[in-house]
Amino acid sequence: METTPQKLEMFYEGKAKKLYSTSDPDLVIAYFKDDATAFNAKKRGTIEDKGVMNNRISELFFMLLEKNGVKTHFVRRLNDREMLCKRLQIIPVETVVRNIVAGSLAKRLGREEGEQLKRPIVEYYYKSDPLDDPLILGEHAIAFGWATADELKQIDAKALKVNEVLKQFLDERGVILVDFKLEFGRHHGDILLGDEICPDTCRFWDKATRQKLDKDRFRRDLGGVEDAYHEMLRRVES
Ligand code: UDP
Repeated sequence: METTPQKLEMFYEGKAKKLYSTSDPDLVIAYFKDDATAFNAKKRGTIEDKGVMNNRISELFFMLLEKNGVKTHFVRRLNDREMLCKRLQIIPVETVVRNIVAGSLAKRLGREEGEQLKRPIVEYYYKSDPLDDPLILGEHAIAFGWATADELKQIDAKALKVNEVLKQFLDERGVILVDFKLEFGRHHGDILLGDEICPDTCRFWDKATRQKLDKDRFRRDLGGVEDAYHEMLRRVES
């Protein structure tokens, strides 16, 4: 049995998670909260047991990705709400992969939500709360020094690989992977997938009914938010 490093002080609190340093400088503990925010925290609420479900769903996705050759920050789940992770130097670029038109893409280009794309799209957004995470080109990330050209190339390939692995896994469980957001970071010369992969950061639609099983139920006041998260956990555990 591996020993768990001792939890030290909280060094970061985000919208959905708190991060704690540990007695091992290479490891951090992520604590998953129930707080829910949308539209850059202009809408706030809580989703009962969201932290527990997102911790477990993320664990299952990270293990699946590791099994398929994608390196992640995941070490192991410690308890209901805590995950042990490798410490990353986060690259301030959010990577979104899309298979079907939804959300900001539908709005920006005036397309119908639900339109199937001819091939997946990889988009970058600059991680900045004061600027509302604006859409950027890879060129901006390189020119401003947020990531190197080589890092972006790796991020692109990894994001598309994550898409292929998750899309197939979810399809077998009756779920359409519409789109999702990833964050990457540097760790001893490697680029690792970080953050979380869960109904907060992905759009999941039921294949049969096209019912939304993700945070859009909260964003759009559709009701049944907790049920949707429970249903997603049930599907990925099956
Ligand atoms: N997303 C996220 N965090 C963000 C913005 C987007 O996790 O700060 C996820 C979102 O859940 C969706 C995908 O990225 O699965 C694409 O989101 P979109 O650009 O359509 O923005 P939204 O409509 O969510 O504002």
